[in-house]
Amino acid sequence: MIKDQFVTFTIPAQKRIALIAHDHKKAALLAWCIKHKEILEKHVLCGTGTTARLIADKTGLLVKGYNSGPLGGDQQIGAKIAEMRIDMVVFFADPLEAQPHDPDVKALLRIAQVYDIPIANTKATADFMITSSYMEQSYDHQVINFQRNVSERIEEMEK
Ligand code: PGA
Repeated sequence: MIKDQFVTFTIPAQKRIALIAHDHKKAALLAWCIKHKEILEKHVLCGTGTTARLIADKTGLLVKGYNSGPLGGDQQIGAKIAEMRIDMVVFFADPLEAQPHDPDVKALLRIAQVYDIPIANTKATADFMITSSYMEQSYDHQVINFQRNVSERIEEMEK
């Protein structure tokens, strides 16, 4: 019998952080990374293809690159969140330009909510997050118990 509706997971002190910026926001994210380089270099960084390459080239930070966003990079990052392999996302999204991969962007925001992942989609939020004392500590959070969720749905179907 799987009892609990939520399971406690721990976001480690050294975080796996995904960095993403839409084209008109890339300069702002780059400047943000330069400003917070001392903190960021203590963590493990990844990002969508173009964003990751740009930040790595211009800052010297090690940033693993996934596919470019419009070619599935946001989905790859979403999948890593579902696998508990990304702990935090900084996503400078552009609210003034339509994106061809808008459904992927929405899916990424949604899956971050499902897994209660800290995700900043404005610079101000990112500033609050990066200066939080939790950046240096582990953090316990409650994530939906998927085993229970699956069992309950199957029981429901069998009624
Ligand atoms: P990019 O993708 O880093 O490859 O530009 C970002 C995005 O548009 O989601």
